[in-house]
Amino acid sequence: METLRDQLVAWRRHLHMNPEVGFHEHETSAYIEAELRKMPGLSVTRPTETSVLAVLKGGQPGRTLLLRADIDALPITEENTFEFASKNPGVMHACGHDGHTAILLGVAKLLSDHPGDVPGEVRMIFQHAEEIGPGGAEELVMQTGLMDGVDLVTGLHLNSQLPAGMVAVKPGPFMAAPDMLELTIQGRGGHGAHPEEAIDPIAVGAQVVTNLQHIVSRGVAALDPLVISITSFHSGTTHNVIPDRAEMMGTVRTFDAGLRQRAPQLIERVVKGVCDAHGATYELKYEFGYRALINTDWVAQQLKDIALETVGPEHFRDASPTMGGEDFSAYLQKAPGAYFNVGSGSDEHDSRWPHHHPRFTIDEASLETGVRMLHAAALRLSLPE
Ligand SMILES: [Zn+2]
Ligand SMILES: [Zn+2]
Repeated sequence: METLRDQLVAWRRHLHMNPEVGFHEHETSAYIEAELRKMPGLSVTRPTETSVLAVLKGGQPGRTLLLRADIDALPITEENTFEFASKNPGVMHACGHDGHTAILLGVAKLLSDHPGDVPGEVRMIFQHAEEIGPGGAEELVMQTGLMDGVDLVTGLHLNSQLPAGMVAVKPGPFMAAPDMLELTIQGRGGHGAHPEEAIDPIAVGAQVVTNLQHIVSRGVAALDPLVISITSFHSGTTHNVIPDRAEMMGTVRTFDAGLRQRAPQLIERVVKGVCDAHGATYELKYEFGYRALINTDWVAQQLKDIALETVGPEHFRDASPTMGGEDFSAYLQKAPGAYFNVGSGSDEHDSRWPHHHPRFTIDEASLETGVRMLHAAALRLSLPE
């Protein structure tokens, strides 16, 4: 593990220094492919332009298992000053996908060193474009044969809010479906001194923003999670002109598939009602993003058992569901599986910043925890039924 530990850090730092955003991971995927080609016994292919697949066929009968790491970075300007900070201006590994990639390379190395130990077949997918819709997972699932014959799927996300060395998993609903809306409210512009002669899209828009929360608090059961956040609101140019229109964007997060389907109508009813009441018109665009990530109960239970054995009960925690989204959910449409978290936060390494923050980083000790968990999962979950 000593040399692997150094190698994990070297991989992660190289990736961290050379981040690329989704669908543009050309150097990243070339680097991953080159590293995998150094490992004997792996069959390495490119299912899409910027994703990489390594397959190891074990020496014994067993199930076909898919392990997934995402490889893309974010359009964020890094504020960290360590020597392996991003060299690509405006692009940063601020979600830990550099760590996920290093971890899966580490697992590939361990499996390739002892192929005889591996039951069944292990497919390792280095997936492009998790951070940007429509997402790399959907493309791999729908347009390549990646999932053909896959019995089980697993993968992990580092989590800066969980102490380094901890593992967390839960059965059932784990991450929400992140859907998007764009709303334009069309009023009628005029003089700021004479609102009675105008239709003020800012005043109407403010009512819309407030009333949308009525859906959350009054329209949906308290135990049925729903988040509606208007995250962008643009209108107007100066202090004495009532503008013509207001433009908004927002995100809608749900777990329940029925509520998810109902949400656009609930939202439009409010938008229409408020606009009608005040004489404005509107255009609402609604776009469904990734599905909710619902872990298969028995796979989550097996991962918990593996964690209790691998890292011990003192390093295990039952995970809490989050309203964040993940395109890992696309794989779960085709096969049972479960996603889990590995803690990467520590004060010592100043790595408790939230994901997507310009100071985000990981405690690199989490890389080894990730490898131990995913390697143990690869050997255990691919055992024949
Ligand atoms: Zn992210
Ligand atoms: Zn992420």
